[in-house]
Amino acid sequence: MKKKIVILGAGESGVGSAVLAQKQGFDVFVSDSGPIKDKYRELLVLHGILWEEGKHDENIILSADEVIKSPGIPDKAPVIVKLHEKGIPVISEIEFAGRYAGGKKICITGSNGKTTVTNLIYHILKKAGMNAAITGNVGNSFAMAVATGNYDYYVIELSSFQLDGMYDFKADIAVLLNITPDHLDRYGYKLQNYVDSKLRVTQNQQKSDFLIFWEGDPVIKAELSKKEYGMTLLPFSDEVKEGMSAYIENDDLIIDYRQKTNLMSIYDLALKGRHNTYNSMAAAIAGKVLNIRKEVIRESLADFQGVEHRLESVITICGINFINDSKATNVNSTWYALECMENKTVWIVGGIDKGNDYSELFPLVEKKVKAIVCLGKDNKKIMEAFKDKVATVVETTSMEEAVRTSYYLAKKGDTVLLSPACASFDLFTNYEDRGRKFKEAVRNL
Ligand code: ADP
Repeated sequence: MKKKIVILGAGESGVGSAVLAQKQGFDVFVSDSGPIKDKYRELLVLHGILWEEGKHDENIILSADEVIKSPGIPDKAPVIVKLHEKGIPVISEIEFAGRYAGGKKICITGSNGKTTVTNLIYHILKKAGMNAAITGNVGNSFAMAVATGNYDYYVIELSSFQLDGMYDFKADIAVLLNITPDHLDRYGYKLQNYVDSKLRVTQNQQKSDFLIFWEGDPVIKAELSKKEYGMTLLPFSDEVKEGMSAYIENDDLIIDYRQKTNLMSIYDLALKGRHNTYNSMAAAIAGKVLNIRKEVIRESLADFQGVEHRLESVITICGINFINDSKATNVNSTWYALECMENKTVWIVGGIDKGNDYSELFPLVEKKVKAIVCLGKDNKKIMEAFKDKVATVVETTSMEEAVRTSYYLAKKGDTVLLSPACASFDLFTNYEDRGRKFKEAVRNL
């Protein structure tokens, strides 16, 4: 009898898994408790895959041999609890697709910087002429890439939710950028559970596999010192230190893997800011491990176009530079955005607060921010936190108002930075919508 695979969630990863499972000859059923987007429904129909929406038919789901769960569905969801009770294995799309992927897998995780580094590494591989796919949280799902292509390299962005459903999968190169508290509501409010999830990127790795990680991250360092890890460790740091695979010396990015090389000046990196120097180092080490020539790595790091909504320079109007960092949905990423501001800054902040502690930002705000423009339905907490730190703190409730107010408060030579440190769902559909509305409002000034 054919093995029965049920897929829960018909989004990018679910539909990719369904197409791959169908191709592998399984009996496939897709179930989504909400409405399925047109483009995904069309794909399911095109491939002759059975599906349902707006409900979960437990007769079918609980008779599966294996279930692939969308990362968006929490373990607490009733259908998942029932599957666990019945002992039916529940895995992630990455675990499933990993069984059929031939090429090398380069997996990027961390609390911040995943999308940036995933794109950077992909950019290096493409420039080197390699047959590579960019997958995971960015663009196409890994499963769809495996189903429809035959790649030598898969660059995969992994969230902790995807890692949670991974067991036998192995990354050839794992990149762990940083760990700061995030999504704790899904981890029983225990940081250790979230840390354990991130460390799964290293599971099943051996000596011939690699872990590239930021040596300056206290959480990662503490975790790695708890036991012997089998893979080859490739740490990077912004300080000159023994044993680093990449570091910064006199503003030059040095790679010390197999052979020591002065790669380039940090001023020639396309991505500015300290956090992006880390991201560039991580990507450069991955390039070296894959034997890519240093000239190609250098050129890639210098001409990378950046990723939309991440410290994206929008336009300069009357000498005022507008920057869209809408993707900064937590305090840590906003910290890095403020840290790399070189001019006086009018800072647009706010949205849905996920339990933020703003005190970490005080020193930077006092040094760099001349005015704060709050943008959210409820701005009380931000107003309260910063009222003694900055002379001007104003409240706005729409993007147009926030942008017009910022423009009014800024002078020639200043920067207007949208870096909200909060989720966007109070006023916008998602962070992309927020970023696009910001750019639109700026262009309409
Ligand atoms: P992710 O995919 O992990 O959410 P992104 O690359 O989309 O990360 O960046 C998200 C936000 O975090 C952006 O605001 C960006 O400026 C900031 N950021 C990027 N890299 C880092 C890093 N290494 N450390 C801290 N913040 C970062």
